[in-house]
Amino acid sequence: MKKLPVVSRITIITIGMLVHIFLASMVNTVWQDRHVLNHFAYVPLVLAAVWFGKKAVWLALVPGMVPLVLAALGVGHEPLWNDAIRGTFYVAVTFIAGVISDRSRGLRSMARQTKQHLMVAEAKHQELSDMAKEQAAMLAHSSRLAEMGEMAAAMAHELNQPLTGIRNYAGNALYMLEENAGSIDEIKENLELVNQQVDRAAKIIAQMRSLARRAEIDLEPVQINSIIRETLEFLDSQMRLAGVEVVKNLDESLPLVQGDRIRLWQVFMNVAVNARQAMENCENRQLTVTTRYEPDHELPVVIIFKDTGPGFDSGEKLFEPFFTTKAPGKGTGLGLSISHAILHEHQGRIEASNDGGAVFTIRLPHQE
Ligand code: ADP
Repeated sequence: MKKLPVVSRITIITIGMLVHIFLASMVNTVWQDRHVLNHFAYVPLVLAAVWFGKKAVWLALVPGMVPLVLAALGVGHEPLWNDAIRGTFYVAVTFIAGVISDRSRGLRSMARQTKQHLMVAEAKHQELSDMAKEQAAMLAHSSRLAEMGEMAAAMAHELNQPLTGIRNYAGNALYMLEENAGSIDEIKENLELVNQQVDRAAKIIAQMRSLARRAEIDLEPVQINSIIRETLEFLDSQMRLAGVEVVKNLDESLPLVQGDRIRLWQVFMNVAVNARQAMENCENRQLTVTTRYEPDHELPVVIIFKDTGPGFDSGEKLFEPFFTTKAPGKGTGLGLSISHAILHEHQGRIEASNDGGAVFTIRLPHQE
């Protein structure tokens, strides 16, 4: 509600007081009537108490004193004690109304302050949560860079393969042309193989570049199976070098998921690389990646990474940032906590269990 300016308030109270004094003087003194028009004084007095608090008591002295002055001048109509009691009532009522008004003003200002504090706290909370998001994105970025470092050697090997292939197939084709040794179909076949190897190398480079880019989360309909295939293809030589057999059990009826390709790729990479590292000292090294659709579950898209490693002891700690059991310099302890955060961003989740090795189960909602 709009507040009345102080000048308007004083004007209203003054008019009220003048009306009261005029009426009271006319009725009681001039017309010698016993009408109780004196009560009209409470209107400006209570208004003044509401607006100005206890200070309005001074105003109550005005209508309280007027009859006494009139009585002193010998024009009073009521007995003197009557005027004195009336004046006392004016002062008492104004005082009580003033106290109540001051209290309620205090309460109102407390409520206002509390509201302001709440607003400040809310703004602070928003700021902190923005900062936390920013930090999480930076952390994910640095973990990707760390993964890139670890993969650099594997990548050199990975790129070496298509390059060797290209040299061989191109050499074959050249030889056939120079020596007139092969049919057109054979030459064509070799050139097609060169093409395939170039595509493969380009794909590897593109993956590394997108991994290095610091991207905002970019949700789009994605096929989980295809991201898993890309991840496993990327890790193919790494897994072969480590003697890990990779088994794929991919459900082709898996629906699309609203997801960020690069980030999901980062999660699968991390879980698969962890499995490879966990099985380093094992005889039997197998990583089984299963996808399946569970339509009755609230998060129906399921991805399972199961290895034949030693499993883990402290399941609840795995997803904590900086928890690692790897030798210094080998693990950052961030991979799983970042994967957890990424899946949270996707309204999904990741859980770990032991079942003859470690099992990481990822669940995601399907696209609406
Ligand atoms: P880092 O790999 O850098 O240690 P992670 O957050 O990816 O960080 O993993 C945290 C820890 O979880 C690992 O140090 C390891 O103890 C445990 N862990 C992860 N994956 C496996 C697995 N497949 N088998 C056994 N332990 C695992």
